[in-house]
Amino acid sequence: MPLLQNHIAVVTGAASGIGRAIAAGYAREGAQVTLLDVDGKGAEAAAQEIRDAGGLAESFALDVTKREDCIAVAKRVADQVGRVSILVNNAGINRRNGFTADPAAVLKDWQDIMAINLNGVFNVTQAFLEPLLAAKGRIVNIGSIQSFLHVRTPNSPAYTTSKHGVLGFTRALAAELGKHGVRVNAIGPGLIETPLNAAVRANDPGLVKIFMDHTPLGRAGKPEDIVGPAIFLASDLASYVTGTIVMADGGYRAI
Ligand code: NAP
Repeated sequence: MPLLQNHIAVVTGAASGIGRAIAAGYAREGAQVTLLDVDGKGAEAAAQEIRDAGGLAESFALDVTKREDCIAVAKRVADQVGRVSILVNNAGINRRNGFTADPAAVLKDWQDIMAINLNGVFNVTQAFLEPLLAAKGRIVNIGSIQSFLHVRTPNSPAYTTSKHGVLGFTRALAAELGKHGVRVNAIGPGLIETPLNAAVRANDPGLVKIFMDHTPLGRAGKPEDIVGPAIFLASDLASYVTGTIVMADGGYRAI
């Protein structure tokens, strides 16, 4: 039997990259998938691709920074789709200005990255909390190798702080929601080839080399590399797993 049969899953940032791959993977495992993205057309194209492959999917445009919109979309999903039992908080952005760069740019990075990567996770989780509690659901947050500190690559303090926050939020919610039967975990991807880092990969081979020199598997990841861990954490295979982060980084953090 498919691993996610009878589940309704919501994936944010599902028009592209990792979120798009997770949504398709969940549909292949029998879940009905609701794709949310600030790029509403992209989310609908991804949903259509899932339907064309025989899966169940619908989409809604959603900017996760807009709290009221998150609440409104959660209501529409409840009315039009059903009771959500899996939430994947995946929407995120990255910029790599150091703290000593131009102060105006650093401030803008901080505000934009926190608004999406951290407050967005809060907004969407709170909006879908009621069905997740009722369903004894599962939450999967997308962290990063930057959920932990490392000094090999230039880190934007905003991105590193936001991804530490995602891990902290994951643990705090796991501690509180476990008694309600809700499991909360994170995934820590390494360098995954998506539009998020296309410019870095094209223009900064030195940085890519630093990543690859510290990746035992010796290659960058593909969005599909994150799908297995995401299915595992959302499924009953992980019935005794909560409050943890599954690293899907080719071994980067191990060395
Ligand atoms: P991606 O291909 O750029 O996909 C991210 C999606 O999120 C895009 O469709 C983007 O839309 C959407 N989005 C951006 N802001 C949003 C908002 N305010 N509300 C709703 N959706 C929004 O990036 P990705 O690499 O798949 O990243 C997905 C997650 O994985 C992120 O949390 C990222 O931090 C994390 N991650 C990625 C890597 C990696 O190497 N790729 C490594 C570690 C962690 P637009 O494109 O229209 O802005």
